[in-house]
Amino acid sequence: MKARLVIGILSCLWLAPVMAQSCGTAELAVQVLGSGGPELADKRASSSYLIWIDGKARVLVDAGGGAALRFSEAGATVSDLDVILFSHLHVDHANDLPALVKSSYFEDRTRALPIYGPLGNKFMPSTVAYVRALFDGTHGVYRYLGDFLSPLNDATYKLQPRNVDFRSKLVASRKTSNKIKIVFTNEHMRISATPVLHGAIPALAWSIESKGKRIVFSGDTNGEDGNLELLAAQADLLIAHNAVPEDAGGVERQLHMSPSVIGRIAQTAEVKQLVLSHRMRRTLGHETETLGAIKKHYNGPSVFANDLDCFKP
Ligand SMILES: [Zn+2]
Repeated sequence: MKARLVIGILSCLWLAPVMAQSCGTAELAVQVLGSGGPELADKRASSSYLIWIDGKARVLVDAGGGAALRFSEAGATVSDLDVILFSHLHVDHANDLPALVKSSYFEDRTRALPIYGPLGNKFMPSTVAYVRALFDGTHGVYRYLGDFLSPLNDATYKLQPRNVDFRSKLVASRKTSNKIKIVFTNEHMRISATPVLHGAIPALAWSIESKGKRIVFSGDTNGEDGNLELLAAQADLLIAHNAVPEDAGGVERQLHMSPSVIGRIAQTAEVKQLVLSHRMRRTLGHETETLGAIKKHYNGPSVFANDLDCFKP
């Protein structure tokens, strides 16, 4: 108990989240909208993050259940978003997209909104197919919102879904390896992705670079293919998903990183800060053991995320 208290205090000293309210005024910050997994009993929104740049929420990474409410609590608007990124399309990462899109109907956005995510396979639609399945004006679940995709009218701005395709020959350019692809750039940021292993589900890890800093999101992965540490090399902040305890086995471990794997990747990549999110009932309450396993490999600052926490890289 005493050790747990000491480690808890130390972890607060290593890296304390700044107040959520100040996130929106930050030059560069990441705000956790959802720090939980698919369970509702964890009392957390499911996976979702915002990148604030110069006081505007410009990037949304994932939009699991509860993300839309946290998005409004954070003071963000869809009109300010430059891009939405999906790590993968499991319910706990993707299913608040319709709520966000519908909410934006009442804003004054005019520019297109790009949405990037993985290709599909027999278990999952591609990102393009997912957005079309929701909003296609003829066949979509929410066909009444078809104006967001239809090129035939100017009633609203347009969603621009795109698959990140690592099979493309275009990947093999001089500036990118065949495992890391620059996906999106504008005057505020450069965004890259790499494919990661998450069972049979197509999944991506994301890197957002802005103001000379880099924030990397593991998404859900077992971390076994080596791609995450490549993307996270020298990152200023790595948000890793702490979905399983150290002794996890079977399917759980095939889908997610154990704490020691997170620690090994953070150490190999030499990341400057580690934030642990996607917390579930099987890891909540096990923070001492989790930090202990991580610190066998990685001695940098490590902290557990809660909804609306704000971290500056
Ligand atoms: Zn998940």
